[in-house]
Amino acid sequence: MLKVDGARLWSDLMTMATIGATARGGSFRTALSDADRDGRNLFVHWAKEAGLEVSVDKIGNIFARRAGTDDSLPPVMAGSHLDTQAPGGKFDGVLGVLAGLEAVRTLNRVGLSTKRPIEIVNWTNEEGARFPPGVVGSNLFAGRTTLEALLATRDRAGILMGDELNRIGYAGHRDVGQRPVDSYLELHIEQGPVLEEAGVTIGAVTHTSNQGGGVIEIIGENGHSQTTRMSRRRNALVGAARIITEIERLGMAQEPHGMVSATVADVWPNNRINIPHRVNVGFLIVHAEGEGRDRILDDIETIARTMGQDCGLEVSFTRSPQRHRFDFPSDLVALTETTAKQLGHTSMRLPTWTAHDALNMHVVCPTALIFVPCRDGISHSELEWCEPAHATAGADVLVNMILDRANRTG
Ligand SMILES: [Zn+2]
Repeated sequence: MLKVDGARLWSDLMTMATIGATARGGSFRTALSDADRDGRNLFVHWAKEAGLEVSVDKIGNIFARRAGTDDSLPPVMAGSHLDTQAPGGKFDGVLGVLAGLEAVRTLNRVGLSTKRPIEIVNWTNEEGARFPPGVVGSNLFAGRTTLEALLATRDRAGILMGDELNRIGYAGHRDVGQRPVDSYLELHIEQGPVLEEAGVTIGAVTHTSNQGGGVIEIIGENGHSQTTRMSRRRNALVGAARIITEIERLGMAQEPHGMVSATVADVWPNNRINIPHRVNVGFLIVHAEGEGRDRILDDIETIARTMGQDCGLEVSFTRSPQRHRFDFPSDLVALTETTAKQLGHTSMRLPTWTAHDALNMHVVCPTALIFVPCRDGISHSELEWCEPAHATAGADVLVNMILDRANRTG
């Protein structure tokens, strides 16, 4: 079995984390920011140093390719994302990209060629922290959205995603997707407590959750906040507060099958001397059952409309696109388990609650998602932590799975 250089992988993770480093030990590299550009540049530098051929597509996805002995075959792809939450941690996404890079260095070091080419990918804007929604680079690769729609996305300052791609120098020339891929392998921290609590090193992800969400717009009436009679006020923020509290109560009642919280509140005019006349409340749902997700959506809509009637506020309710549960290919789940076992690591099967680029690549090619533990299940936080031994174990599993896929016959 191949073994990566764990010390080099750890050193790369810590070096990448210095780009956009935050005081509490996290990283702040939101998509297409200067820090994201610098992180991308470092990855490209390392990839070229490893002899890989780098290309960039029109949405800024970066592919670092190692030729196969039959280079006409579709590539085995491995990767994840280098962008972070605002702020985020050192490992979410970064581990998958840098472990992929370390995997090809390992093949180089031992002088192994593969039949199929191998490509390490950094997907654009997985997190959606700056340009919502997230997971869009792989979504476009899978043909599930349009380039025009993504380039026209604006951040909260009104800056276009297309302009930022150009500004940081990552508006590439390659068409996005529209090419065959042999298989896609993504190593990621679990972002939950299951592996750590079980004392298990490798998670073989079997299936996804059902996901959904929406935005509730609440309209009241503008006015002076020091002169308008209390009984005359139509305060949209008060309506939002009632809805947000009810959504949280609903979420608490779903455990352990599902989760929901209000996570966004945009308030207009957001000025102490004015009564808030418009509030947008956003929320995301995950649930083990599709009916559970649908029931939560219906319940939230009822909560919002009832509040509107009670408080004299106008309410509109917009459902966002849903993701339905699917199963990852069983042969790749089994390959994750057998590879872990051959390396002497414990493994277990588990679902992923949240979305990853792998959920989009699943419609392109056979896909595997491999988890390693993270401390206390914490992610999207500066406190995110992955033990060096777990990062190495995940990369060891990844390199051997890449080798298996890239050299398999048939
Ligand atoms: Zn991630």
